[in-house]
Amino acid sequence: MTTSSAVPRADDADSDRLRALLERAAEGRDSQAWSDLWTELYHNGSLDVTRPLVLHALTDMAEDDHADTAVSALLLAGSLLVQADQRYETRNLRDRHATDVARLLSAANRWRQVTADRNEYCHLLEAVLNLEGGIDWAQDLFGGVVGEEYELECPDPDGCASLWVIIGERGFFSVAEDYALSDDVETFPLHPADPRALEGLGRRLYDLALADGHEEVACALTYAFGEATCPECERRFSVIGQVVASSS
Ligand SMILES: [Zn+2]
Repeated sequence: MTTSSAVPRADDADSDRLRALLERAAEGRDSQAWSDLWTELYHNGSLDVTRPLVLHALTDMAEDDHADTAVSALLLAGSLLVQADQRYETRNLRDRHATDVARLLSAANRWRQVTADRNEYCHLLEAVLNLEGGIDWAQDLFGGVVGEEYELECPDPDGCASLWVIIGERGFFSVAEDYALSDDVETFPLHPADPRALEGLGRRLYDLALADGHEEVACALTYAFGEATCPECERRFSVIGQVVASSS
């Protein structure tokens, strides 16, 4: 008789760790469990996202009554699906779990209509886009709205300059990269999109935010889908165009 049966296989150990993390996350108020799930499933892939348990558990949490847990589950599930689309260059994970994905998407659309919190709302719009799976830069788009700034490159083909686009309490302007180091640095006002002229995704997100009672998010989106000026060469460019360019 060998002792090998007494030694837990790595696979079983991973399964147990994954199950334990998901259970802790589902119980709520355990930010470390969420942080560990992001690290292991998304950032370093040490746990396998293709295990059915992952999306099943996140779907159950998204349909739970607790907004915190539901929003966290929706955000992680959406990001994992987009990452899997990119990593495997197929939509296998999405297709294999189509029932869970449909339930997640309807949960995200339910929650977005009831949340009053600005940032939670942004995360829900991001989750909706990620669960729909049409674009892979929703995280970058809403990261800038939540963080009230985008760090972008000038679209000049020679790589003119890195710059900040500031959207929020500090104002609405673009500025050279090192503005935080100096008091008297030149800023350039942003040019928001005219809401009546918005098209496509910008139109859809703006209308959703207004319909859901989030005027401030709708306003921020007109800047994200508007134009900024490069502080170096003073060229005007599309903010969302550079968000998309920097995410790929
Ligand atoms: Zn430039």
